[in-house]
Amino acid sequence: MRKPLIAGNWKMFKTTEEAKAFAASFKKIYESSDIQVAICAPFTQLGALKEAFKGTDIKVGAQNMHFAEEGAFTGEISAAMLQEIGVDYCIIGHSERRQLFAETDETVNKKLHKAFLAGITPILCVGESLEERDADRAFDVVKSQLVKGLEEITAAQAEVLVIAYEPIWAIGTGRTASPEQANEMCGFIRDVIDGLYGEIVADKTIIQYGGSVKPSNATEIMNMEEIDGALVGGASLVPEEFIQIVNF
Ligand code: PGA
Repeated sequence: MRKPLIAGNWKMFKTTEEAKAFAASFKKIYESSDIQVAICAPFTQLGALKEAFKGTDIKVGAQNMHFAEEGAFTGEISAAMLQEIGVDYCIIGHSERRQLFAETDETVNKKLHKAFLAGITPILCVGESLEERDADRAFDVVKSQLVKGLEEITAAQAEVLVIAYEPIWAIGTGRTASPEQANEMCGFIRDVIDGLYGEIVADKTIIQYGGSVKPSNATEIMNMEEIDGALVGGASLVPEEFIQIVNF
């Protein structure tokens, strides 16, 4: 019933020329299926990608936004600015933003509210550090991120929300969570959503896994029952690699 979402997270890679070249190559090898595909690119590449993917069902996402309507926030981008170029998704609360740019559950929550108001589907990232996993705190940490991040988010909003479980120790490290570990946490996340919003909503929420997903491990991850897609960093930068994940 849930349509899986495989989203590339380009992080701070690719100029506009490089993004256009990616889109041209990717469109040639991409065939639409019952998997939703999206590319989350740097702000300056979003317009070019929307244009390049026009007429296809490939969606475009941003990687961050500010929670204020507008104002004196030098260097920031608002939800309305993203909405204007037709951005479909926005990654919110990626661990790199939490660690390197001081994002908190509170700012994540404010951003989620703004994204929903602008009609942009948020991809809410949660996940524990290695230290937290080793201390048996992974489930508590993820639950707390969800409960705080989703404060005052309605059931109707939670139904369309995408959640990405990304254990920090598996991001860009080549060390993937085992499919069983990933499935266990995605199932736990669904239980938390069930507790907050009930079973009907929990059955609809898309829960992705992210962290060193690559062509060689995509099939076993995607085949796990609780996992509805992937958030793919490094392996989304090369069309021939990303397509293998999309066609897992
Ligand atoms: P990775 O990144 O696939 O390069 O590990 C995933 C992410 O940070 O979203």
